[in-house]
Amino acid sequence: MKENRRILRVTIASMGITIYPVEGKSISMFKRVFRELEKEISGNIALNFVSEISRHHRIQASPGMRAAVCYAVETLKGFGLDARVHEYPADGETYYWSSLQFREWACRDAELKLIEPEKEARILARWSESKLSLIQRSHPTPGGCCEAEVVVLEKGEEEKDYRGLDVEGRVVLTNGDLDRVRELAVERRRAIGIIYDGTWVRPPALKEGELDDALKYTSFWWEGGERPCFGFVLTPRTGRWLRELVEKQEKTKKPVKVWAKVDSSLYEGSIENAVATIPGETDEEVVIVAHICHPQPSANDNASGSGVAMEAARSLQRLIATGVLSRPRRTIRFTLVPEMTGSYAFLAENEDGIPGMLAALNLDMVGERQDVCGGTLIVERTPEATPSFVNSLLEAVCDEVKVEAGNLGGSARYALFRHAVTPFSGGSDHYVYSDPTVGVPSPMIIQWPDKFWHTSFDTLDKVDPEMLRKVALMTATYAYFIADAGPEEAIWLACEVAAREKRRLFEGIQAYVTGVLNEAERDGEPGKGLAKALSELKEKASYRLGRCIGAVRSVRRLGGEDPRYTAVEEGLVSGLESVARDEQKMARAAILGYAEAKGLTPLPPVRRERMKKLEREASGMVPRRLFRGPFSTRPWIRKLSPEDREGLWRFGQEHEEVNRTISTLAMYWADGERSLLEVSRLVELESGGTDLEYLVGHFRFLEKMGLVEFV
Ligand SMILES: [Zn+2]
Repeated sequence: MKENRRILRVTIASMGITIYPVEGKSISMFKRVFRELEKEISGNIALNFVSEISRHHRIQASPGMRAAVCYAVETLKGFGLDARVHEYPADGETYYWSSLQFREWACRDAELKLIEPEKEARILARWSESKLSLIQRSHPTPGGCCEAEVVVLEKGEEEKDYRGLDVEGRVVLTNGDLDRVRELAVERRRAIGIIYDGTWVRPPALKEGELDDALKYTSFWWEGGERPCFGFVLTPRTGRWLRELVEKQEKTKKPVKVWAKVDSSLYEGSIENAVATIPGETDEEVVIVAHICHPQPSANDNASGSGVAMEAARSLQRLIATGVLSRPRRTIRFTLVPEMTGSYAFLAENEDGIPGMLAALNLDMVGERQDVCGGTLIVERTPEATPSFVNSLLEAVCDEVKVEAGNLGGSARYALFRHAVTPFSGGSDHYVYSDPTVGVPSPMIIQWPDKFWHTSFDTLDKVDPEMLRKVALMTATYAYFIADAGPEEAIWLACEVAAREKRRLFEGIQAYVTGVLNEAERDGEPGKGLAKALSELKEKASYRLGRCIGAVRSVRRLGGEDPRYTAVEEGLVSGLESVARDEQKMARAAILGYAEAKGLTPLPPVRRERMKKLEREASGMVPRRLFRGPFSTRPWIRKLSPEDREGLWRFGQEHEEVNRTISTLAMYWADGERSLLEVSRLVELESGGTDLEYLVGHFRFLEKMGLVEFV
């Protein structure tokens, strides 16, 4: 309690504001809650949940997924939570915002055997051995089972790969992009099945050949109207062996044949979310989300996030039921969902409730044994189009977890695990919540990289109960603090947010200055670069200031209009404004001082450059998004003409090196009023890079898909 008060005084005193001492539980709350939760939360209980969930084959819209959801609901009910299964149609027709619901898929058995040459006959893949040996959502084999010749494709992503090959009625062996191969080999050339033996490397976490015996999680994503096919997955080692065999047989003009059987069905069914609540006293809420889907076992991805959410729920419920913690003002809701699909469905059916959702937190792959999996525990921030207090709060809670070991003299405490805070990158459920059109700021906790991600090696032994405990503690503290915060807690939080965001502002401006000075050395006309930097400095500083102020102002959701709180907020905002002005002045002085020391003064005047053709084009494009929530492009790509689909593939290939996060960030900034040129500039200010040509092309395709229009 004392420590927190000290922080409060120091921060506010430096801004010349007098505040009254805050009495009672208020400021001490996050620490007190943290300490109580620390006594209750168990990594081993969480591990038990993870173990139970990982037993199920949890493909989105399947009996296994349903069983996992029912297990979670029944278990949470047993702890006294109000837990329910929310059911949605899985019909391949219903849309929630831009997201299409899958059809339900069930598989009873599958097997792939090599039958020719006879002396090499053997089983290649068997469902009962590993669910990952089948390409998920495979259609049944024609006629119950079938025999087919194997054709080896180089990658099979280009027309030229098929020159001189007849794949009709055959099975292709590929390590190329599955969607693309399905389009070229199955749709256009009537192959009946695919054998996939692809893998990836991601040095230094995953080196060439390290996972030679793992099966990669591979799935068809039917959108309707495609030619049905089935597929199997081989390990890279078996794949190499089979490729060599086909090559050997080709020399003597003899085929390699397989026998395949897939007993599966795709049908109109249902898809489920598990939703559990700890009711509060108002209609506001905090949402904890974790995806419960993925193939058996997929322990870290994401039985771990689901297990942690369950343990956080169990512990909070118990502490509240026994009176250790008071009932929170706001509801805490836990949702275990099929990734993205479930969040779209939950939010779209609950649109009236969205304004009451103050914050969310996404848990995705949180249990990794760091020494084995190779990753780092990451707090991923929200996109900057949605500035929020949630980032600083989660960072502060994480700092508490980091107090593990100490130095000899006892003057410092620090973490023994790897951790980092990173900017938004997306790719999981927080991508849906944090979109400004939804407006529920959601950071994510994730461990990345993970060597075993999306392979058959993502097993329970890679899960660390101690890591589960840490993340459950962070999750429960974060959820309860937001759920119960009032004006007094908001005062502390606003100060904490201002302090942390201010640091980002300092670091951001200094990094910019460093970059400019470094570039000046290299530039053909060094003075010109420095002059340009001076003219851009104001924009940089005011962008960062805008993010700081936005984050501080977001605390108003907790503090309300209480004058004690609003006075602090105003003080913090004017403090930030003057800090940003000072920083800008200092940066200016540094650039000018450097220029003078280098003998470059007076700097040349900066002439406004004429807009290039591309910039003129982008300045005339004002994209308006036609759906709430982020784009789920997959079903919309399917609606493109074959020529446009081909064009989109080419476009992707030509811009392979472009960081795809910029298209997500651009989507978030596109508010129907900003031009694409302005959007691209904001993306650059946010992420440090942009690619206008890519964004123009990307948005043109979004228009063709019917996801945006230009106003
Ligand atoms: Zn995943």
